[in-house]
Amino acid sequence: MAIHELDADYLVIGSGAMGMAFTDVLMEETQARVVMVDRHHQPGGHWNDAYPYVRLHQPSAFYGVNSKHLGSDAIDQTGWNKGLYELATNSEVCAYFDQVMQQQFLPSGRVNYFPMCEYTGNGEFHSLVSAAKYKVEAATVVDATYMNVTVPSMRPPQYQVADGVHCEPPNALPRLTGQYQRYVVVGAGKTGMDACLFLLKNEVNPEHIFWIMPRDSWMLDRANIQPGDLFGESVGKGFALQTRAIAESGNIEEVFEKVAATGQLIRFDPEVIPTMYRCATVTQAELEQLRKIPNIIRMGRVQQIDKTKIHLDQGEIPTDLHTLHIDCSADGLERRPQQPVFENGKITLQSVRTCQQVFSAAFIGHIEAAYTHLPIQDKNLLCTPVPHPDSDIDFLRTTLANNLNTLRWSQDADLQAWLRNARLDGFSMPGEPNEISAEQATMLSRMQQDSKRSIANLERMLEELDGA
Ligand SMILES: Cc1cc2nc3c(=O)[nH]c(=O)nc-3n(C[C@H](O)[C@H](O)[C@H](O)COP(=O)(O)OP(=O)(O)OC[C@H]3O[C@@H](n4cnc5c(N)ncnc54)[C@H](O)[C@@H]3O)c2cc1C
Repeated sequence: MAIHELDADYLVIGSGAMGMAFTDVLMEETQARVVMVDRHHQPGGHWNDAYPYVRLHQPSAFYGVNSKHLGSDAIDQTGWNKGLYELATNSEVCAYFDQVMQQQFLPSGRVNYFPMCEYTGNGEFHSLVSAAKYKVEAATVVDATYMNVTVPSMRPPQYQVADGVHCEPPNALPRLTGQYQRYVVVGAGKTGMDACLFLLKNEVNPEHIFWIMPRDSWMLDRANIQPGDLFGESVGKGFALQTRAIAESGNIEEVFEKVAATGQLIRFDPEVIPTMYRCATVTQAELEQLRKIPNIIRMGRVQQIDKTKIHLDQGEIPTDLHTLHIDCSADGLERRPQQPVFENGKITLQSVRTCQQVFSAAFIGHIEAAYTHLPIQDKNLLCTPVPHPDSDIDFLRTTLANNLNTLRWSQDADLQAWLRNARLDGFSMPGEPNEISAEQATMLSRMQQDSKRSIANLERMLEELDGA
């Protein structure tokens, strides 16, 4: 079969959240023509594979694409997210991205979308359901796959599981029919937390849950990650307290001690010092629930599960064939090496604000659209990647990289105006600068001073650590 030849200004590989948020800004701010390719049947990326009960971990109010609201900005009245902005379910997220594609991108006549297609490099892709092959001549190729998200349903467990042992991804939980006496949750990242919360919500006795926690995690309190006027004061205060705590810390241990004392970092067990930080976000109510689980297994990673034992790095625990093992050990978002965002003819979408991927993709889209006059190295400076964190020390690295980007952006009035109006920026103060109250202005100026001190402090501590 002949190869179909196409041309476009941009070839975007991946119609996940980042590819969609980037393309949306191109649609709003340029006349560019885009070809989008994805192996999924609809936009939304990993949300198509996620466990059915997953919700956004952060508010819908600043997720999705810049040009379209997600949800109704409701404040939850019940449940463990009570009092905070609603969190979309995965089906809402998929429906939302489908609407963006069907009602905005495609009717514009400027987006040519190829679902169920595999990109193989050099502008070439082929259909996964027919013999069709394509080649695109595009001025710029946009890699919207670099974050390499892996959710448990996308791959088998990375440890051995004996025949007859029940081990499933969390996607299996809503289909249970009462056949298990115990549950072993493997993994203590956000997916593991979600699996535990699913079981607790459905009234499984906490004593019947065994939670394998290879590393304890520093977590974020969702109350501190809320957008808009309603939470502006408390969120702003929280940032300010964190910045001051870092500015006043003498060493790394003190950073964690002081930041935890402000409530900006929280942990499962106050007696255990966490070694992991991956931006897992929970509410205090969820944390209270999780703390009901008495059986926490801190013996490293699972190596093997056989019919009577779970073998871990540092020992073994009993199991049996009436137990469901829930594999929550996939990496989700992994820490990836930093790449230049802008290269000749190529854009690699990465986070430029810690754990704010969709905002980052939209921000990069804006720099691409509005800063055509800037040399590539200056665009890369504005879009310095903030790699997804993994270890406790990554809290310091991402905070530093984040603060440096914020400082760079603060020197550009146009960029500040764009940020104030960007729906995906949950944290810039809305309104024109002259609309900010005297109290806000004082807080801002103190925070700017503390921010400089905290940057210097973080640079010193990380230099000492890396040089050691
Ligand atoms: C459980 C979970 C909850 C999250 N909650 C939030 C939240 O509340 N707020 C927030 O801001 N962020 C959240 N995030 C992170 C963030 O929203 C994005 O989900 C993240 O950046 C992933 O989006 P992506 O577009 O980078 O990747 P993906 O969703 O993985 O999209 C990449 C796409 O590229 C396609 N692809 C890859 N290779 C090829 C190829 N060769 N050919 C064709 N197609 C290809 C894939 O099929 C996929 O559709 C969450 C992440 C997870 C895992």
